[in-house]
Amino acid sequence: MNAYLHIPFCTSICSYCDFTSFAGQETKMSRYVDALCAEIQSSNLEGPLQTVYFGGGTPSLLLPEKLELILKTLHKKAGFAADIEISMEANPETVDLTRLQSYRDFGVNRLSFGAQAFQTEILKKLGRGHDWARVEKAFADARQAGFTNINLDLMFGLAGQSFDQFQESVRKVCELRPEHISMYALQVEEGTPLARQVDEGLELPSEDQVADEYAWAQTYLLALGYEQYEVSNFSNPGKACRHNWNIWRGEDYWGFGLSAVGTVGNVRHGHGEDLMAYIEKAPQGYESLLEKEVLTEPIRAWERIMLQFRTQEGVLERDVEAYVRSQGGSSYKERFNRFEKEGFISLIDGRYRATSKGYFVLNGILETLMV
Ligand code: SF4
Repeated sequence: MNAYLHIPFCTSICSYCDFTSFAGQETKMSRYVDALCAEIQSSNLEGPLQTVYFGGGTPSLLLPEKLELILKTLHKKAGFAADIEISMEANPETVDLTRLQSYRDFGVNRLSFGAQAFQTEILKKLGRGHDWARVEKAFADARQAGFTNINLDLMFGLAGQSFDQFQESVRKVCELRPEHISMYALQVEEGTPLARQVDEGLELPSEDQVADEYAWAQTYLLALGYEQYEVSNFSNPGKACRHNWNIWRGEDYWGFGLSAVGTVGNVRHGHGEDLMAYIEKAPQGYESLLEKEVLTEPIRAWERIMLQFRTQEGVLERDVEAYVRSQGGSSYKERFNRFEKEGFISLIDGRYRATSKGYFVLNGILETLMV
């Protein structure tokens, strides 16, 4: 079993962010952790847990003793597999050696730092609270604390960042030799400060530049020995994020905490986005917090296809055929043959896989399956 835990606190809010997170609410963190533990205790979670993922928000704002409390609660409730992966997202400016050593002592064995870019002026525009020196310091501290599985997040398609500057960012990230690199295109989400800036005339890089950045980084990372195991994710062999892998493969996962989503069997549960409502309702038990949706088999099948197509493993041809037929369609084959000829997908041993080039137009490929 897999568990995701959401920690919805940040020191400030980045201009592009539409995750559920609050700045200046750290005084509520202790009550939030109690609520999270109450939710875990009163749930039907069954273990042993194979993976735990602390996402946010900024989970590295958690005091080590609070992290310990959450992990002890999870362990008591469900037990941990001997080779459990416990991942934590962290912002470079929130950690130091002592804190990282404590996280490691309490069982965290994978860190994911938001690095995003090398240039200070770009980081400032994004609203990030760190510069590159902080990234290097956090990374060095993490190594010293014993972490041997570290991800760095990097963004592309950034306003004001030239192609050369993007290349410089990728090179800087690679110089640190992290085991894992995630690379995300900047998205302009409605209601964010970035969306307002774009409305007011902020220029974003052209689609061609964004595509070139993605393609260049793919080639560069593959040449260094990283494997691209998913659209946005590259790792050294054997260092893929097991938590995300399991979810992309369609395994069940529990979500705990504000706005967290989980899928167990054919039920998807969510939590809403009201921080105080979450804190106040949690002592009444897990069920009081949930928004539930029953997923039909066609929805599950479509989700599996979407997720698996994002990965190196790809999708069984027979699953695609069965899904399209169940929806009353029949004509995807011709279009898929064309995608194959154009080098966007491959069909080998009964599995469709997106190629490196195909990853960039994956949404377009998937749209052709929607009947
Ligand atoms: S650190 Fe992450 S969660 Fe927090 S505001 Fe920035 S992007 Fe959003």
